[in-house]
Amino acid sequence: TREWQLVRRPHGEPVAEDFRLVSAERPDPADGEVVVQTIAMSVDPYMRGRMSAAKSYAASWELGETMQGGAVGQVVASRSDAVPEGALVLHGLGWRDVAVVPAKHVSVVEPLPGLPLSLYLGVLGMPGLTAYAGLFRLADFREGDAVFVSGAAGAVGSLVGQFARLRGASRVVGSAGTPEKVRWLREELGFSAAFDYHDGKVADLLTAAAPDGIDVFFDNVGGEHLEAAIGAFRTYGRAALCGSISGYNATTAPPGPRNLGFIVGKQLTLRGFIVGSHADLRPEFVGAVSGWLQDGSLVARETVVDGLDSAVDAFRALLSGGNTGKMVVRLAPD
Ligand code: NDP
Repeated sequence: TREWQLVRRPHGEPVAEDFRLVSAERPDPADGEVVVQTIAMSVDPYMRGRMSAAKSYAASWELGETMQGGAVGQVVASRSDAVPEGALVLHGLGWRDVAVVPAKHVSVVEPLPGLPLSLYLGVLGMPGLTAYAGLFRLADFREGDAVFVSGAAGAVGSLVGQFARLRGASRVVGSAGTPEKVRWLREELGFSAAFDYHDGKVADLLTAAAPDGIDVFFDNVGGEHLEAAIGAFRTYGRAALCGSISGYNATTAPPGPRNLGFIVGKQLTLRGFIVGSHADLRPEFVGAVSGWLQDGSLVARETVVDGLDSAVDAFRALLSGGNTGKMVVRLAPD
């Protein structure tokens, strides 16, 4: 089997030399374990945090340790009655072509007709639940709200905007990093307005896109985006603080929003959250999202990179905006 290890902690942007691809003997499964051949693996922004020694909600990886992450695959050998050979499963030991996993740590998944299994790494998986919990629980979205989402063309952001539209937002505004992404948001995902954050000050671009202000902000980016949203909020505005990717590769602390005083005056609610604490929403989320996928009202785009050898390149591209929708590494056909 082949697997990716972290061999040096990235300083700033991760580079190829921070990682190595190693070959290992495939261990035989012990009682209760299954062997899973990877079909697709996920690369996600939170993995940048695990590469760093700094304390964060997900533990740091040790140097020389094989990295982990979401993956889907097929069971090719089983020593568990619960998960038979041939089953399609989701598990947490990505970054390798073959994984030996305790059966109790895998979930058996059913592919939706005509749709790729990798959707369990995106719209039907962790990023989908993040969008759902953040918008509907943390930001307490209500019909008629004007919503702004940063990182809007990514895995989480593209779903937040569509969920808000499908549940009756009065206005959905998104920001993203290229003109193509902005066009996609407006023309294919039904956003009311979208802008490229490279085109000026985010505060000015947001005022032009939402002249009457916003009620809900879903933040994937932080920094200047959060400051702009605080400025644009109406009274009793609500924000779900999901991530702050603009600072993940920073080597010095980024400047915070300079207008935190408005939080008081406008009586805002800003809540940080971790998707793992909202797993109780999963049945409701899967029900809503499978319905929208099957009736065609939800676009679940993926950017697919081929082959385990390209996994680090895919991760590096993710951090610099090389994806539209969910970034996925495909190792084998479904
Ligand atoms: P995305 O698919 O959105 O990919 C990351 C995107 O970030 C890139 O495509 C790029 O798009 C954008 N980006 C990179 N650098 C910057 C920058 N300096 N300023 C603005 N945008 C930037 O990833 P996910 O959807 O998986 O994750 C989105 C966010 O949600 C991340 O912050 C992540 O950490 C967070 N998250 C939090 C969870 C939680 O439980 N709280 C769970 C899952 C994700 P562009 O071209 O637009 O710049």
